[in-house]
Order: sequence, then structure tokens, then C-alpha cells
Amino acid sequence: MQKPMYINGVWEKRDEELIVLDPATRDVHYSVPKASVQDVNEAVEAAHHTFNSSTWRSFKPHERGYCLHKVAADLRERLDEFAKAETLDVGKPLKQSEADVEAAARYFEYYAAMADKVLGETIPVEPGILDYTVREPLGVTAHIIPWNYPIQITARSVAAAIAMGNTTVVKPAEQTPSTALLLAESMEKAGIPTGVYHVVTGTGQEAGQVLASHSLVRHIAFTGSVKTGSTIMQTAAKQITPVTPELGGKSPQIVFHDCHFEQAVQTVTNAITQNAGQTCSAGSRLIIEASLEERFVEALKTSFEKLSIGPGMDNHQLGPIITDAQVEQIDGYIKQAKADGATIVTGGMKQDDYYYRPTIITNIDASHPIAQEEVFGPVITVHPFTTEEEAISLANGTDYGLVTGIWTNDIGRAHRVAEAAESGQVFMNNYGAGGGIQMPFGGYKRSGYGREKGLEALQNYTQLKNVAVSYRQS
Ligand code: NAD
Repeated sequence: MQKPMYINGVWEKRDEELIVLDPATRDVHYSVPKASVQDVNEAVEAAHHTFNSSTWRSFKPHERGYCLHKVAADLRERLDEFAKAETLDVGKPLKQSEADVEAAARYFEYYAAMADKVLGETIPVEPGILDYTVREPLGVTAHIIPWNYPIQITARSVAAAIAMGNTTVVKPAEQTPSTALLLAESMEKAGIPTGVYHVVTGTGQEAGQVLASHSLVRHIAFTGSVKTGSTIMQTAAKQITPVTPELGGKSPQIVFHDCHFEQAVQTVTNAITQNAGQTCSAGSRLIIEASLEERFVEALKTSFEKLSIGPGMDNHQLGPIITDAQVEQIDGYIKQAKADGATIVTGGMKQDDYYYRPTIITNIDASHPIAQEEVFGPVITVHPFTTEEEAISLANGTDYGLVTGIWTNDIGRAHRVAEAAESGQVFMNNYGAGGGIQMPFGGYKRSGYGREKGLEALQNYTQLKNVAVSYRQS
């Protein structure tokens, strides 16, 4: 069965298609059109036309907000449908997909409320001059989405872009296009005018590249790997198109001896096993005070071994790994670590071909590839320290800088370490603060720049105009 893509309010099928597999069985689940260069051009041109149309230009900011609220309501009403589609695409446990759909609804609600609240300034220049700034939309915005959190990541940038008066073209990941397509139905129902939201289902190399290089695209929200981010930024640079790159991570959990032990064990477990470790902000390195290492690793092992593994639709705690290639990638890192003398405390192997057992690795140098690169599986490496300085140096010792977790009851130390952390987000004695759509999120170093989420993201979807008026009498 082919699910059509959505260009300019029309559901379009094509002879050339992309096959989408159910990660839990690797069976063919459905297909989508393989968007051509012409399809992407058509979507961008229609989005450009709509941006300049009297329909969209005359839409009042609060009317945009009203429609976006209705999108949020539709997501909640159809939460089961969206969550099942997400789990069948990504493989993640149904409960996690339900939480993702709720987060998507919250993004629409949050940015709906901001549609008429982004203000300009008046600037004192000199007597007789009124100087003011206006925040204006940019035009067509492109949204290139990864496969691991499709509905949340689509919602976070699309909602902010539309709230600010832009139009949007979404290119979902090849593996997971369902929920971006379902969202088109919500947009229609909510009264978002035709041409404001398009979905082109194509490959990264073709549809993604055409989108990134299109001269009518005024901003690119890209979430994905460092390698693709760098390619897209080079392409976009040719048109001077701004990119907000949200890239990978190798986030540390720094645990001091005076932490709340049970809470830290539980949260460190969740942070590396959520979505089977296929999460940009996964806490994949445990930086542990040496005096606590043995006890903590033992408790973590018990916690990992209690987790159930199986199909996401049956709500196990760990679902399948998205593709065979991804399973092989995880396995490759583990084999290399073993060959280099690391200890596998638990896990370290596939289960039933499509799953990976939660894995703890000790006796591994912090410079080893498994401790430096994104494994993108439920794998945590353990690095003991004896001083606060050493903990900071280990935590900051990768090219990434997305999130840092700090576990201690010493408030002074917690703030010193937070100050030294080279990452866009820091969590003390928690990890994620319940998702926090209001909190700006983004990277230091190779994890990217710019911020999605929160009020900060609105900067991505507006451009600033300064107007100076003279009212002197000549
Ligand atoms: P990816 O970079 O392979 O693909 C992401 C998207 O880019 C897909 O839609 C893909 O089709 C498209 N793409 C691929 N090549 C392209 C090209 N040459 N031109 C234009 N588009 C192209 O990433 P992935 O494997 O889907 O996702 C996993 C990565 O995403 C991990 O590195 C993860 O850390 C990162 N990620 C980051 C965040 C964040 O917010 N920082 C969130 C989730 C995932």
C-alpha cells in the first residue's frame, strides 16, 4: 500500500516509491512516493506562492495561533492513531510514542500562544528620530527530520515556523514518514490554509539535497547526524540560507559519591535505554567517582537486566533497533572495544537479530571510539575519576556538547560543574526535566548551534527589520 505525500493540499502518489519496514519484523509495512526533484521544486514554489498570497498575508497572528491550537487538539484526539503509526515506523515502545505525541501537541499549543506575542523594540537614537524594529517571517522554511523522534522533531520546528507566519516544507526520514503525513490531515482540519504545510517523502541525497539547495528556501531546520548536517550547511552556504543544525551527542552523566543513589541509577538507566539508546541526548558515558564505581555499576547492571526487550507494540521497555545496518554499527563498536581489552559487564550482544541488549562497558579508555562516537544503541561506557577537575575534563572530552547530567547533593559543586560544562543543556539531579518543550535545546561544539524549543527557537523563524523615521520639522 502506498501512502501518498502531500504537496499544495493534494495527496500525491508516484510510481517510484520508497519501502518502509516495520522494525520489529523487518516486514514491508507500506510505501511512500519517492519524491523527485520536480516534486520538491513544486512544493517549495507552492509554499513560496502561499507565503506571498493575500490569504496568508491577511491571516492575523492570533488566527494563526487559533489554528495551531486546533492542531494540538487534533493530535490529542488522535493520540492512539499517531502513537501506533510512530511505533510501527520507529519501533519504540507505544508508551514512548504516546509521550512523543503529547509533546508534539504541547509544541503546537506553546507556539500557538506565541503567534501574537513576538515584539519589536523602539531604540533611542536622537531627538526627532523614531527607530523601531519589527520581527518578520522569512518565507519558506525547510524541515529535514531524522528517524528517531519524527513527530516531536517535526512539531517543534513546524509549529514555531507557522506561528511566526512562515510556510513549511517537511522532508521526513526515509524510514519514518507516517506521522508527518498524518499531521497534514490535522493541519487541514485545523484550517491552516493550503500551501502552508507540505510533506515530500524522498531520499536525503535527492529530495533533501534539492530542498537544502533551493533558492526560495529561507531557513533550514535540520536535525540529524553531524556528517549530513555538515553537507547540508555547505549546500545552504551557496544560497546564504541559514541553517539551525541540531546534531548528535555523546552526553556524560557525572555521578559523585554524594548523589541520591537510587534516583541516579534509575535515571542513568532510562537515559541510555529510552528508544533503545537511539536518542541524540542519550546519556552514553558514565563519569563516576572512583569510590562509588563498583557499587554503582553493580546496581546499574541489575537495573539493565530487569528491562524487557521486544516489539514496541507490546510495550516492552526496549524496542528493536531501527535497521540491520544500525545493529551492525552497534555490534562493530562492541567488538572493537572487546578486542581492545574492555570488560562487558552486561549485554554486549544482539537479541533475536533486531534487538540489542542494554550494555555496560568498563576498563575502556576515554579516547576509545566507543567512548567518543555516537554508538546509537543502549550502550554506556564507564569512566572513573578522583577529582572534580578530572570529572569535568572527562565530561568535556569529546567533540560533542549536547547535554550534561550532574548527580551530587553538594550545591556548590553542582554549580561549579554546570559552569564548566561544554554543553547546551545541563541537568542537575535529573535528566530531561520531563521533556521540557519550553527549555531551549541545542549543542555546543559539533552538536550544532542555534536552539530549538522554548522561546529562543522563535529567533530562527523571524528576521529583524530596523525602521528609522524622522519627524523633525524642516
Ligand atoms: P541523518 O543525518 O542520516 O538523516 C537525517 C535527515 O537528513 C533524514 O531525513 C535524511 O533523509 C536527510 N538527509 C540525509 N542525507 C542528506 C543530504 N545529503 N541532504 C539533505 N538531507 C539529507 O540522521 P538520522 O540517522 O536520521 O538520525 C540520527 C542522528 O540524528 C543522530 O546523529 C542523532 O544524534 C541526531 N539527532 C539529533 C537531535 C537533536 O535535536 N540534536 C535529535 C534527534 C536526532
